[in-house]
Amino acid sequence: MELSLLSGSSSYGKVVSITARRTFPTDTWSSPCLLKMEIEALKQDFFRLPAQAMVSVKCSPYHLFDKCVLMGDAAHAVVPFYGQGMNAGFEDCLVINEIMDQLDENIAAVLQEYTRVRVPDDHAIADLAMYNYVEMRAHVNSKYFLFRKYLDNILHVIMPKTIVPLYTMVTFTRTRYHEAVNRWHWQDKVITRGLWVCGVVSAAGGMYVLVRNSHKLPSISAEHLWTRILALKRFLKCSCK
Ligand SMILES: Cc1cc2nc3c(=O)[nH]c(=O)nc-3n(C[C@H](O)[C@H](O)[C@H](O)COP(=O)(O)OP(=O)(O)OC[C@H]3O[C@@H](n4cnc5c(N)ncnc54)[C@H](O)[C@@H]3O)c2cc1C
Repeated sequence: MELSLLSGSSSYGKVVSITARRTFPTDTWSSPCLLKMEIEALKQDFFRLPAQAMVSVKCSPYHLFDKCVLMGDAAHAVVPFYGQGMNAGFEDCLVINEIMDQLDENIAAVLQEYTRVRVPDDHAIADLAMYNYVEMRAHVNSKYFLFRKYLDNILHVIMPKTIVPLYTMVTFTRTRYHEAVNRWHWQDKVITRGLWVCGVVSAAGGMYVLVRNSHKLPSISAEHLWTRILALKRFLKCSCK
């Protein structure tokens, strides 16, 4: 099935019509008649519910004695920009199941431990989801940001256990969310320092080679050199636009 949402203006909320087209064999899905009804119902549902505000919930503790416990969006609704809301909810189930096994299903102790283990992770994913919005909105057009993403991926191929991109850690491993954030900060610091060291070593090496071979270089006036620097600056400015 293919649904296209047509927006009448540049704003998010103003969807003016929905067109739907069936592009799969009828025997795989419901009959054409049923499908038409489903699409009609979907259209009505879509226009009946106005756009809602997005919420991000951070709370603690997640339990009340041995009486009740919050899991999923009830405990940690997050903005949808990391695509982890449902996943974090499933992980809540996995974690509480593991704790149940560890603590012999002593519910009071299990819920207390569940809050202790889960709160830092769910708060971390709430922050990451917010951060990802900022990243998608502002950073993806930055050349340095794209270069860093590329570099991170190359370093991950070379040292798969030492450098793991944040998205990979969060999405494809069971690294705890708050540990992924800590590790991401650590990796970022190491890579940034590495880049600085490479830059300084290259500049020093370049200077050394220039000085050693200065007698072989054609003599160039300071004025001429300055004109070339200005031209280079103009070129870099144009290529950054
Ligand atoms: C736009 C958007 C995109 C998303 N994209 C992703 C994604 O790519 N990946 C991902 O992992 N997650 C995503 N999510 C998040 C994901 O949909 C939610 O995290 C997930 O559905 C939460 O499941 P839940 O069971 O905790 O809560 P819900 O799905 O909200 O379920 C709660 C249920 O309780 C019912 N209920 C409420 N009050 C009562 C009551 N008093 N009595 C009885 N029943 C009640 C509600 O009707 C509802 O059915 C996205 C969310 C949004 C909004």
